[in-house]
Amino acid sequence: MSQREWIEKDFYKELGVSSKASADEIKKAYRKLARDLHPDANPGDVKTEERFKSVSEAYAVLSDSTKRKEYDEARRLFASGGFGRGGGFNPGSGGFSQGGFDVGDLFGGGGAAAGDGGLGDLFGGLFNRGAGGGGATRTASRPRRGSDVETETTLEFREATLGVTVPLRLTSPSACTTCHGSGAEPGTSPRVCPRCNGTGIVSRNQGAFGFSEPCDDCRGTGSIIDSPCKVCHGNGITNRTRTITVRVPAGVSDGQKIRLAGQGEAGLRGAPSGDLFVTVRVRPDDVFGRTGDDLTVVAPVSYGELVLGTTVSVPTLEGRVGLKIPAGTADGRILRVRGRGVPKRGGGAGDLLVTVKVAVPQKLDDPATEALKAYLDAEKASGFDPRAGWAGA
Ligand SMILES: [Zn+2]
Ligand SMILES: [Zn+2]
Repeated sequence: MSQREWIEKDFYKELGVSSKASADEIKKAYRKLARDLHPDANPGDVKTEERFKSVSEAYAVLSDSTKRKEYDEARRLFASGGFGRGGGFNPGSGGFSQGGFDVGDLFGGGGAAAGDGGLGDLFGGLFNRGAGGGGATRTASRPRRGSDVETETTLEFREATLGVTVPLRLTSPSACTTCHGSGAEPGTSPRVCPRCNGTGIVSRNQGAFGFSEPCDDCRGTGSIIDSPCKVCHGNGITNRTRTITVRVPAGVSDGQKIRLAGQGEAGLRGAPSGDLFVTVRVRPDDVFGRTGDDLTVVAPVSYGELVLGTTVSVPTLEGRVGLKIPAGTADGRILRVRGRGVPKRGGGAGDLLVTVKVAVPQKLDDPATEALKAYLDAEKASGFDPRAGWAGA
């Protein structure tokens, strides 16, 4: 359970007793609730089960005199703002929600680990919020991974399909080149903070309650910079425009995101960089379309070519390929050329799907017109009726 949960939950209310209730009263209240809410008595009732869990949780704390004392104390401190240092822990500012730091951190064990976010994260989060404007306050940040950066690039259809290497211009905070991100003037280096021994955290006692809090001397960073780098004013970061070369793999599609590990914003004072995410936009092509890994293309043909069959030279992404159109192929039919589509990630490629489409001439010269008329007569004489299917309609 996180500290925040622990403090926000009203265990007394859960058990329906007053905060002055005796151990006996608490036990009685719990027994009654446990009987009524027990999952065996309410099979399949999720709400009751949740309630049962809350009640058990409340009882686990309130039935243990040591835990109950800590709980009462924590709530009292919390209510009076005793957690705060300059309002940093004020729950209204979201201070607590950031790190989800665990009871164990405060009480030296006991609480189950909350997973992500120990004290370091929490304090890092607090300082970052205060550091919004940059400048000197940024030096207060604890070393932390740089932020991820997002950008976009537009590719031609063929580039995206075949893969391409593109330069990307990025302006983002990067490790200061003068101090290499250390924040200390070249020739000097940060020294370990003697007060916190480089941990950035000091312990403080208030009543029975032990606190860990960011070290004042080093402002939670664990190190002290005696002569800050003049270029970055000690925060190890400068705004830099850089051009990086990105190899876009073959087969990316419009809207796809590419992740470039470590190419994002630099971490403060040498912490790892964030990642760069490039969203790829793909311009449509005049000739080709795409369906998944298959490339699509329309092959204009004449009526006669479909009737008699022919071989047409079809463009592909790389050169042309001869496609045999069998005699009697219907208009609109899709013919497949295996392996001439979009390269696949794991090797190989999709297919090229060729749709045959009759191109109707808008104008014919006299000999062609005469020949076509003669053809239609001969076609009729041969018994072909394109609308034979309507005969009974
Ligand atoms: Zn610097
Ligand atoms: Zn310190």
